[in-house]
Amino acid sequence: MYRCQPGRFSRHNLSMDRVETLICGAGIAGVAIAYELAVIRGRHNILIVDPEPPLSVTSDKSTECYRDHWPDPAMRRLMSRSIERMEELDAKTGHRFRLNRNGYLYVAYTDEGAAQLEGSNLSTDVYKFCGEFPYLKSNPKAFLKVERAGWLTAQQLGAYLLEAARERGTRTLRDRAVSIDGRQCRLESGQEIQFDRFVNAAGSKFVDVCKFVDQNYDIEREWHRKFAIRHSGVPRDAPLIILADPIRLDWSQETKIELRNDPRTRPLTETLPSGAHFRPEGDDWLLLLWSIGVEVDEQLHYEATLRACSRLLPSLESLIERPPKPVIDGGYYVQALDNRPVLGEIEPGFYAMGAFSGYGIMAALGAAEIVANDMLGLGHDLDFSPTRLPGLKPGGDHGQL
Ligand SMILES: Cc1cc2nc3c(=O)[nH]c(=O)nc-3n(C[C@H](O)[C@H](O)[C@H](O)COP(=O)(O)OP(=O)(O)OC[C@H]3O[C@@H](n4cnc5c(N)ncnc54)[C@H](O)[C@@H]3O)c2cc1C
Repeated sequence: MYRCQPGRFSRHNLSMDRVETLICGAGIAGVAIAYELAVIRGRHNILIVDPEPPLSVTSDKSTECYRDHWPDPAMRRLMSRSIERMEELDAKTGHRFRLNRNGYLYVAYTDEGAAQLEGSNLSTDVYKFCGEFPYLKSNPKAFLKVERAGWLTAQQLGAYLLEAARERGTRTLRDRAVSIDGRQCRLESGQEIQFDRFVNAAGSKFVDVCKFVDQNYDIEREWHRKFAIRHSGVPRDAPLIILADPIRLDWSQETKIELRNDPRTRPLTETLPSGAHFRPEGDDWLLLLWSIGVEVDEQLHYEATLRACSRLLPSLESLIERPPKPVIDGGYYVQALDNRPVLGEIEPGFYAMGAFSGYGIMAALGAAEIVANDMLGLGHDLDFSPTRLPGLKPGGDHGQL
């Protein structure tokens, strides 16, 4: 797999002390806005600062999926545009990002789960389901196939955006932004950079970087894990498959008592949220995820996720008693209360490109367009603007997938 070369990230370069745009963060958000400004808008003198190698913090931990199925019309608009741009670039680069159209499949076996499903492809045709998905548990109450969805190689997308921006003169510096005074940013090394525009693309540190300009937002961070196991019981062209039912897990009597006795693990014996999901990866891997809304250790979380996914995929049942050792990674979802990203001007010269929750890969190209328009005076998108944040009430699509 391609990795951006850390060595190309210079440590010190004092000639960089004045830039037009200073981008804080070299995750997918930072490289997407650099690409947008340098390649699409023809802007010059762009510098990305990050203490870590590019695309190495959250942006290489994702499930790399995308979908245009969003209940929130503003999110649907953002994702449709973003997907359109990913598709164009994938075609232009000879399918470099290996973007597929495997789709998403939401499956409900209960009335409660079925009531949550909405969409033009909603079906209750169990014969069709069993014919198309013979490896899944049969007889769902309803299922929904999202066609404009699938996954891609996020590392390749990010690497391409960064390479293209670098070819147009964008520079990168291995350092951390620590404060802002007027139009001057102080870095951890002591270097000071003057800028005309600053973009906060700091991922899980988005809120901390907003504090540089005295903005304190009610934005949450939540740790999400991903489990990978070797399992070939799913065709490689299967969709991302999601259980739409809230469920109670079947633990052995002994384990149930143990879990109940600890207030931290007791919720695992109660009804847990819908959304357990999996997809095939590579030749024989399966990625499993489930946001259970409870802080438990990773082994317990893995076992719960395996059990939940086995409700959809019976071939996992034989693994429950002796679960194979998974590869585990994860990262923070950074979420505004309405679960939309925060895009655009916060203060004159200070722009937000953050709060990408569980959809930052699929949203990056659309979001970069919105932020660049705002920076260049070409329009301010109120649906995503930081101005909506004060007084915001919880709501919106959960955006976990
Ligand atoms: C388990 C999991 C599954 C996911 N699945 C999907 C999916 O299927 N599809 C999808 O679209 N998204 C998915 N996501 C979400 C997606 O990965 C994120 O939304 C996205 O990677 C966020 O990108 P970012 O650039 O904002 O943050 P990051 O990738 O975290 O980059 C932020 C960068 O800012 C740097 N930084 C922080 N503070 C400073 C500072 N003071 N100075 C300089 N640099 C700084 C950090 O070092 C980091 O490199 C998933 C996430 C997780 C955790």
